[in-house]
Amino acid sequence: MDFKLLNETVERVIESTEEFKTEGNVATYIPELANVDENNFGLAIVTVDGKTILKGDTELRFSMQSISKVISLIMALEDNGTDYVFERIGCECSPYAFNHVNTITTKAANPFVNAGAISTTAMIKGRDKEEKFQRFMDRIKKLSGDQGVTFLEKVYNSEMETTDTNRALFYILRSKGIFDLEMDDVLNRYVAGCSVGVNVVNLAKIAAVLANGGKCLETGDQLVEEDYVKITLAQMFTSGMYEESGKYQMTIGFPLKSGVSGGIMGVVPGKFGICTYSPRLDATGNSLRGIKVLEGLSKELGLSLFA
Ligand code: GLN
Repeated sequence: MDFKLLNETVERVIESTEEFKTEGNVATYIPELANVDENNFGLAIVTVDGKTILKGDTELRFSMQSISKVISLIMALEDNGTDYVFERIGCECSPYAFNHVNTITTKAANPFVNAGAISTTAMIKGRDKEEKFQRFMDRIKKLSGDQGVTFLEKVYNSEMETTDTNRALFYILRSKGIFDLEMDDVLNRYVAGCSVGVNVVNLAKIAAVLANGGKCLETGDQLVEEDYVKITLAQMFTSGMYEESGKYQMTIGFPLKSGVSGGIMGVVPGKFGICTYSPRLDATGNSLRGIKVLEGLSKELGLSLFA
């Protein structure tokens, strides 16, 4: 991919989406998420050959929210294998909102609705809940090149005060025998995972590892098994944008995962990882300007996997 062309196109597309800067609303159901500058925008691209494009507020730290579900899935697979995971979680897109009770039948619809991520969180191994969460943090640091990944306690406390829907999902899943663990182990770790603070560069780096078949960009070491990369990207493709995943696969056309704090992480296999941050969301909970930027880039550069 021509780096100069990529850089110029990014600049042009960001400019052309200025008009969406004030559209949409920040999430308020987790009160602390409303404590941001609503018009912030940041973008990072990391190519598989190690080049970087940074635009806007790339230092700004925000909570991963649902983007953390990608890491929980990878770890659930690594700790238990594919069969174990998909015997207990479905692999189809859900037409329901990410925290809707109908996302559970006999099991969660897919790993990227809340019920699915509560399930993968339960599958992460460790001696106790502290060790399980430490392993989760370490995995994010390793994949993202560390650089300031941190735990956002205020976001965590804020969600813990308002997360009864997720508590309900936890109990439904446990009643169906998906796991047999205590609330303060699984649910608290799920919310803690959503509260990991990153910037767009951290997430673009994780995406770049996935774009590179799971291999470290610098050393070539296999950081994520190739089979698990394929599974993760397939799920990001079919369910990464909640109940509107199909819609954006028609206009963007590569694996994506969004979070309600305003991040969208994207993987263009063999080419680059990308992350946009813009906290104003559409009605589904996806970053409004982030989508516009990704749509523009995909169109101008022919990035759809079906192009
Ligand atoms: N922590 C959020 C929740 O559980 C994550 C949701 C999201 O980003 N879609 O509701």
